[in-house]
Amino acid sequence: MLRLKSADPLRRVYQSLLELLYPRGSHCLCCGHPRLADTTDCLCDACREEIRRLRVPAEACDRCLMPVRKGHPCAFCQSPLMKPIQAVYAPYRYGGAVRQLIHAFKFGACDEARPLLSHAMAESLKDRDFDCLVPVPLHPRRERERGCNQALLLCRDLSAQTGIPVRELLRRDTYRRPQSRLPLRKRQANVSGAFSCRESPTDLRVLLVDDVRTSGSTACACAKALKQAGAKSVSLCVCAVVYRKKPSN
Ligand SMILES: [Zn+2]
Ligand SMILES: [Zn+2]
Repeated sequence: MLRLKSADPLRRVYQSLLELLYPRGSHCLCCGHPRLADTTDCLCDACREEIRRLRVPAEACDRCLMPVRKGHPCAFCQSPLMKPIQAVYAPYRYGGAVRQLIHAFKFGACDEARPLLSHAMAESLKDRDFDCLVPVPLHPRRERERGCNQALLLCRDLSAQTGIPVRELLRRDTYRRPQSRLPLRKRQANVSGAFSCRESPTDLRVLLVDDVRTSGSTACACAKALKQAGAKSVSLCVCAVVYRKKPSN
């Protein structure tokens, strides 16, 4: 394939030709590769196969979905990050085509990518019952920058599929640096105490919803706020969990 700089007029001609040959909607959502076949499908064969390989493996920990060595207790479950969280549900490990699909959902092809993610999330719940779906909130300033809270969009999709109502019980009180720009070891301090409840969650079995669990610090801070305000239990549902060698405490 031709490799041209974005400002190069030749590249613009090349792009226009591609658009003519492969109309919008026939590009793979993940890798952007043009495809001739079936424009109702958003992924190319290679990306669909990669996403299938990135399913959380059956041998992962039942509760937190981290890899565990047979016969050994799960290290991540023993870390303080899992203390307020009953269980984690997610279809995928973060990486490769899954990372690209989540990126497409957050930064551009939201309407096309979201159903693929939310459908897989709903399947990962396996008929578990909760009283409400609660999106991890963004600070209002960040929400204005982003245009919307993607966690809320995932909640609405999940609600349509499961019948569980969405309740925006949490509020983000302080404007902090985005977690993605911080090293893992600083993330817990960055979000600690950043959330509070705007309505009482007393006796509710809450399912927190977010796009990705990276260090687990954000979900932990949200779950702590909900539990302290009286929630009966807090579980977490995300599109993907990040696998690392050691839990970050
Ligand atoms: Zn692809
Ligand atoms: Zn575990």
